[in-house]
Amino acid sequence: MIEDLHDLYQDMILDHNRRPRNRRAIADADCSAVGHNPLCGDRVTVYVNVEDDVVEDVSFEGSGCAISTASASLMTETLKGKTVAEARALFKRFHGLITGEAEEPGDPDLGKLEVFSGVGKYPARVKCATLVWHTVNAALEKRQDTISTE
Ligand code: ZN
Repeated sequence: MIEDLHDLYQDMILDHNRRPRNRRAIADADCSAVGHNPLCGDRVTVYVNVEDDVVEDVSFEGSGCAISTASASLMTETLKGKTVAEARALFKRFHGLITGEAEEPGDPDLGKLEVFSGVGKYPARVKCATLVWHTVNAALEKRQDTISTE
């Protein structure tokens, strides 16, 4: 583990990396997408079931660094029960938090996802944290191609 990343590995990130939530496939998922971050080697497949415009179930499989795994785990916890519109708004808000872009009025509360606020200081890690969000976004848009951060 790289020394200067130490302050990124907060307890919640470590916990979600050790015991990822919703790390499983969904058989016959309504939508799924594959994401790849060549810079770090993170790979993720996201599965989503949508019913009446609500994210009824969301899960992931894959392998990657602690940041990408924890981000995927926390994302699935956060998105379950949200509407598709809320999921998109959260993606925008999360992306803004990580990249340091200004918040817009009406952006949703990120809750636990705030633990990733320190990631913005490490540009190479931004892609690790946002990969799974780009991937779920692609799944919700039913894009079939592999999403790459490059
Ligand atoms: Zn990574």
